[in-house]
Amino acid sequence: MSNKEKSKAARIIAVTNQKGGVGKTTTAINLAAALAVKQRVLLVDLDPQGNASTGLGVGYDQRQTGTYAALMQEVPASDLPRRTELDNLDIITADNELAGAEIELIAGDRREYRLRETLRALDSRYDVILIDCPPSLGLLTLNALVAADGVLVPLQCEFFALEGISQLVKTVERVRRAFNADLHIAGIVLTMYDRRNNLSELVAADARSFFGEQVLETLIPRNIRISEAQSHGCSVLQYDRRSSGAAAYLALADEVTARSEKGA
Ligand code: ADP
Ligand code: MG
Repeated sequence: MSNKEKSKAARIIAVTNQKGGVGKTTTAINLAAALAVKQRVLLVDLDPQGNASTGLGVGYDQRQTGTYAALMQEVPASDLPRRTELDNLDIITADNELAGAEIELIAGDRREYRLRETLRALDSRYDVILIDCPPSLGLLTLNALVAADGVLVPLQCEFFALEGISQLVKTVERVRRAFNADLHIAGIVLTMYDRRNNLSELVAADARSFFGEQVLETLIPRNIRISEAQSHGCSVLQYDRRSSGAAAYLALADEVTARSEKGA
C-alpha cells in the first residue's frame, strides 16, 4: 500500500535535522500538543537521549517498552503507545535500550522498514504521527524517513543554519528513490527567531531565497516559556497558553494541517 492510498490513516511527519540543538524536540513536543487540540496525535521519541519523553513528563523509570521495542518488533504495536496528560496525545517513549538499536539493527532484515511496519499497525488510531529524530542521519533517522510521508525540518536562526541542509535534502531524495516514493519535505520551520537580532532576519531571508515556498510562514520565536515548559515536563501550551511560544506552535499546527490538506 502506498502512502497515498491510506487516506484514513495517520499522516506521518518526521522532525529531522542532523544538527543538534536546532529545536527538533521542542518542535515535536509542542507541535504535537498543538495538533492534539483538534486531532488525535501520536508522538514517537526516536532519539536515545529521550528528551521528548522527558519533556512530556515521562521519567526514565516509567519507560518500559518504547521505540526500541518498536524497532525490534518484539511486542504488539498496540502495546507501545501510552497516554500523556494531554487529551488526544499519546507517546511512544524512548526506552533505555534505544541507544544500542542502531548497531543491533545493522544485521537485521528489512532493517530500514521496522518503524514503518510498526506505525502502519497503529495508523488508523491517529490523525497525525510525529517522529522526533536523533541528531544524525543514521539508521534510526533512516527508519523515520522510510516511515514518514513528510519531513519537517527545524532551522535555528543562527550562524551556519543552512549548513548541512543540502545533505539532508540529498538524503531525503535518496530515501525517496530507494525506499519511500511518497516522501517529501513538508516544510522548513524557522526556530528561535529573535526579532531584536538582525541575524535572525538574515537567516530567514537566506532560507526563503534558497528554499522558497518550502519555508513555512510561521516563525517560532525564541521564548523563555518554551524552555521553562520543558524543564517542567510539559508542553508550552500547558505551561503558559498565553505566551508567544504557545501562539506560535498553535499557528504552526494550523499551517502544517492546511498544507497537508492541500496535498503539500
Ligand atoms: P534538538 O532536539 O534539535 O537537539 P531542542 O529542541 O532540544 O533541539 O532545543 C535545544 C535547546 O533550545 C533546548 O534547551 C530548548 O529548550 C531550547 N529551545 C528550543 N526552541 C526554543 C525557543 N523557541 N525558545 C527558547 N528556547 C528554545
Ligand atoms: Mg532532540
